[in-house]
Amino acid sequence: MPVIIIRDDITRVQADAIVNAANSSLLGGGGVDGAIHRAAGPQLLAECRTLGGCPTGEARITKGYRLPAKFVIHTVGPVWHGGNQGEPEQLASCYRRSLELAQMHCCGTVAFPLISAGVYGYPKDQALRVAMDTIRECAPEDMTVYMVIFDHDAALLSRALYEDITEYIDDRYARRHEKMFARRKEANLGQIFAAPMFKADHSAPEAFPMSEACMDCEDTVCGGAFGADTDLDTLLSNLDEGFSVTLLQLIDRRGMSDAQCYKRANIDRKLFSKIRSDAHYRPSKPTALAFAIALELDLEQTADLLRRAGYALSPSSKFDVIVEYFIRRGEYDIMRINEALFAFDQPLLAG
Ligand code: ADP
Repeated sequence: MPVIIIRDDITRVQADAIVNAANSSLLGGGGVDGAIHRAAGPQLLAECRTLGGCPTGEARITKGYRLPAKFVIHTVGPVWHGGNQGEPEQLASCYRRSLELAQMHCCGTVAFPLISAGVYGYPKDQALRVAMDTIRECAPEDMTVYMVIFDHDAALLSRALYEDITEYIDDRYARRHEKMFARRKEANLGQIFAAPMFKADHSAPEAFPMSEACMDCEDTVCGGAFGADTDLDTLLSNLDEGFSVTLLQLIDRRGMSDAQCYKRANIDRKLFSKIRSDAHYRPSKPTALAFAIALELDLEQTADLLRRAGYALSPSSKFDVIVEYFIRRGEYDIMRINEALFAFDQPLLAG
């Protein structure tokens, strides 16, 4: 049941069904509704006329006509009146009813716009939260759901969270650059490429814990079991366990089932089976990190799991720093992390 946030025009999305944020007449309107009717052509309106409208929180289905999608599911979101008039329940009902219709029509992929978050005035961060929570709760396991966001908008996150993450990113960048500058000055190098970019400074373990753990720290990364004179055959026959073996061990150690783990990681069952059956499988970095989040690993454990897939976290990467922000706070909800990554224009966990 992976949920993937994408930035696009929903009329161009190739999915079995796209969802329309309609009004209760179902006879077309502005915003996403207008765009869908324009792209689908007049036959869509003709079919909508036969439906007799739709109450708030309910959904109806039609064909997609000229759209790439086979079906359009029309749902009527609530108008925002401050949040105390049943808006969250009605909005959740839109997603639930739409998913039910999609399942009844055997749709494997469904794309939603951010219902009610335009003319109907629902605050975007809250609308996204309701959407993600309801989809996670209600979407069938074998369905892939796309949340299609049209515009670039920081309002997808609460202002407090956006500012807190921004400050954290600034702080990490600033600290790194200050530190590099101080090191160069100290060594009186005067040239930018004279010093290794990521040489660890063990006197300040807090400074770049993830990159140091992965790149320079002999205790946690290099193992230190073999000396410099060890021959290549010995080294190769003593390789560490790889990513997939380690992942399966961690799942067992956590007392989780495989399904619990891949669902929490927002990973598709087929991909998990592939990883499970191939001891040498090398996941993408967002996939490896998604498992670290699902397993609620701390920073050191995350660095170790990533290393087994050939990756490290870097203080120079906004993506890495945002994930680090959540791990440091012990917040392991992948939907929340992906919302934040999306708001900062970064790739999402699980790919
Ligand atoms: P509502 O009346 O339910 O608020 P709107 O159409 O005004 O519906 O807006 C719902 C959301 O759809 C808004 O976030 C808006 O930015 C977005 N939107 C508008 N056009 C498109 C489009 N072509 N594709 C995807 N989303 C869109």
